[in-house]
Amino acid sequence: MKFQIYDLETSKLLAKGIFERIGIDHPTLTISCQGKKVEQSSIIANHHEAVQELMQTLLDRGIILDLLEIVGVGHRVAHGGTIFTKPTVVTELVEAKIEELAELAPLHNPINLLGIRAFKSYLPQALEVAVFDTAFHQTMEEAYYTYPIPYEYREKYGIRRYGFHGISHQYISDYVTEHYGLPEKMICAHLGNGSSICAMKNGLSYTTSMGFTPTAGLMMGTRCGDIDPMIVSFLEKHENFSGNQIDQVINQKSGLRGISGFSSDMRDIELAATQGNSRAELALDIFANRVIELVGSYISSLNGLDVLVFTAGIGEHSATIRKKVCQRLTFLGLDIDDKKNQDHAEEISSSNSKIKVLVIPTNEEWLIAQAVKEKLEQLPVLA
Ligand code: ADP
Repeated sequence: MKFQIYDLETSKLLAKGIFERIGIDHPTLTISCQGKKVEQSSIIANHHEAVQELMQTLLDRGIILDLLEIVGVGHRVAHGGTIFTKPTVVTELVEAKIEELAELAPLHNPINLLGIRAFKSYLPQALEVAVFDTAFHQTMEEAYYTYPIPYEYREKYGIRRYGFHGISHQYISDYVTEHYGLPEKMICAHLGNGSSICAMKNGLSYTTSMGFTPTAGLMMGTRCGDIDPMIVSFLEKHENFSGNQIDQVINQKSGLRGISGFSSDMRDIELAATQGNSRAELALDIFANRVIELVGSYISSLNGLDVLVFTAGIGEHSATIRKKVCQRLTFLGLDIDDKKNQDHAEEISSSNSKIKVLVIPTNEEWLIAQAVKEKLEQLPVLA
C-alpha cells in the first residue's frame, strides 16, 4: 500500500511511503517526511490494520495533529470498466459497482475496496474519491478496443481492451502539455514491473498495449505480454495444467523472470548481461524488441510522432533500454544525445532530432491528489 500526504492549500508533499509485505512475514512501513526516511516494522495482518498504523504514525510523527485535518482521500482503483470515465466520489452505489467490476480485476478491485472501506472507518469526515486506472483509455475508438473474437462476447461479458496505467499515462500527458505544449502525436512508454505503451492523439488515449487484463502487451517482470493464444491450450494439454496453473505461468513465471530464470528485476538482468549471462542478454533483447515493435506500430497508428516519453522504474532509470529502443527509430529522424541519456536528463533527444524524447518520472499520487482537490472544491460551501 503506497501513500502520499499533501497539504491542500499549498500542494506541498508532507509525507510519502509504502507498506510492504502486508499479511506476510516481517511487514514494514517505510515513511519519508522532512527529508528523512525511516523504516519501521510492525505487526500488520491486513490492509485495515495498515491504515490504522498509518493514521497512528502520522499523529506520532506530528505530520498531522488530528485525524480531522484529513479532508479527502484519493484511491487508485484498477478497473472502472466502461462505467467510470472520470474520478468519482465514493458513495455506496460506487462501492457496489467497484465490487461488481471485481470480476474483471479479481486481484485488484477487492483490495482497492478494502482500502476505501478502511479509510472510511478511520476518517468518516473525509471525502473519498476513486480514480480509475482504466478511465484515461475510455477515449479509445471501437476499432481499437474491440477484439476480433465473436462480437457477442463483448456484449455478454465485456471482453474488450480496457487498458491500464491510465493514471500514469494521463499524468505524463498533462505534464508534457504543461511544459512543452499539447503534442498532437505522442507515445508514452511506461516501463516498470508492469509495462504498457499508450499512443495519444492531442493528449487523449488513442490506443494502448494492455488489454482486457494487465497481462497483455509488452514483456514485463513476470508477465509474458502478448503471445500466441494457442500456447495456452497447448500447455494445458501437454503439461496437464489447470486454469490456475496456466494463470501462474503467464502472470508470475514469465517475462524477465521466465527468460532469465533468476530475476524479474531489470537491475539484476542488466548486471548479469554485462557479466555475459546469455539468458539475461536474451531477456534484455526480447524486452527491448517488444517495446520497439509496439512503438513502431503505434507510430503507424498515429501516422507520425512528435514526442516519445519514457517513464516508470525502467523507463526512468535504464539508459540501456532507452538506447536500444531509440537506435531503431533513427529512420524517423529520431536522435538521442548519449550523454543526456546516460545522465537521465529530462530531454534526451539531440538538437537535431525530429522527435522530442523525454524521460519523465511518473507521479500517480499527485494526479490522484489533484482529483481529490477538484472534488473538494466542487462541494457546496455550507453557510
Ligand atoms: P511498479 O510497476 O511495481 O510500480 P516500478 O515502476 O518501480 O515498478 O519499476 C520497477 C522496475 O524498474 C524494476 O524492474 C527495476 O529493476 C527497474 N529499475 C529501477 N531502477 C533501475 C535502474 N537504475 N536501472 C534499471 N532498471 C531499474
